[in-house]
Amino acid sequence: MTPALRTGLAIAERLFTDLATTTSDPPGVTRASFGEGEQQAHRLIAKAAREIGMEVEWDAIGTLRAVLPGRDRSLPAVVIGSHLDSVPHGGNFDGAAGVIMGIAATAALAAQGYAPQRDLLVLGIRAEEMCWFPAHYLGSRALFGQLPAEAPDALRRADTGQSLAEHMNALGLDPSSIRERRALLDPARIACFIEPHIEQGPVLVETGMPIAIVTGIRGSLRYPRASVAGEHAHAGAVPRSHRRDAALAGVALLAALDERWAALEGNGADLVCTAGILSTDPVHHTPTKVPGLLRFSLDIRSEDAALLAELDRWLHAEAARIGANRGVSFDFGPPTHAAPALMDADLRLRLHAAARHLGIPAMEMASGAGHDCATFAGLGIPSAMLFLRNRNGSHNPDEAMEIEDFAAGLAVLTTTLEELLA
Ligand SMILES: [Zn+2]
Repeated sequence: MTPALRTGLAIAERLFTDLATTTSDPPGVTRASFGEGEQQAHRLIAKAAREIGMEVEWDAIGTLRAVLPGRDRSLPAVVIGSHLDSVPHGGNFDGAAGVIMGIAATAALAAQGYAPQRDLLVLGIRAEEMCWFPAHYLGSRALFGQLPAEAPDALRRADTGQSLAEHMNALGLDPSSIRERRALLDPARIACFIEPHIEQGPVLVETGMPIAIVTGIRGSLRYPRASVAGEHAHAGAVPRSHRRDAALAGVALLAALDERWAALEGNGADLVCTAGILSTDPVHHTPTKVPGLLRFSLDIRSEDAALLAELDRWLHAEAARIGANRGVSFDFGPPTHAAPALMDADLRLRLHAAARHLGIPAMEMASGAGHDCATFAGLGIPSAMLFLRNRNGSHNPDEAMEIEDFAAGLAVLTTTLEELLA
């Protein structure tokens, strides 16, 4: 490791420690969106950024913007960023690791006397965790004027019941750009966006790799409130031929979906399927009754939008077939869709080349969880994500990223930045 990288890493280590201490809420940390913990994180990062010579400001909606100025300020900036909020009693690294890596990489570049041609902008994005306000990518979509105009007054924080506007006003921020659907950052002024983030699944731990370069952020097709309607009947008296068993029909659909998933995955498709809710009607169910109602949810994710659409058609056809065979009817209820976001091929190649050059093993993987990076990619900004190995998943106090793995990511990012900023 070079002395410059060691300088960056030391700043990162101090920030992780200070962040864990100041936002501590045992077990874990709490950094509520537009709340005290998030504010503390912003203050700490801003102080560290100023100390390494970055220009620091907050925009009207509270996004932290730290800039290492380039020689030609008319050029579009290279942007690194992630979010600084956490779930209640969460881990120290989800979100914060990405912002801290941006600061640490800047410190490393500054320490080696590197003068960038274009601006390097590090963003501390607000309100990414949906547990506080019920909106995807709230902070990054607000940044680009993409939230619905009524969002500041309609969205209420789960713990306080207060509106987004009330929380923003309390911090001296201004929700008017959200109401006017006005962008505070011009996508044309962004050359590219990179979001480093801890991995939230077990893949890097199991493969023994320190980092991954993300291929895309999965989109989703969700049916949160699906149901099967059949007929309640006596569990002993009614023969198979006369049953309209909602539970067995629902299970038949899920088994068929599972089989199809396995086949598609066998052919190399990117796909994950979950029925997180599956229950008979608690008002009517007993062990001695054929269930007449089953409620279930479906959450299907893939990097491939065409595959999601195809699977949606297949689900409805399969449900109709099972329904006809078993005398039940499926009602999927209203779906929600989130479009997949593919990561930029050139940025991925550059990150891989940097890792190879440094002798750091790196694999490719899709991101199953959503990230602010999807907002940037959705605007046509070349975007990439760098995943860091992390034990025990995320959104819990047991998140465990080793600083050596952060250092590997930092080296890859810094090397890549040297090229992108030139
Ligand atoms: Zn996150």
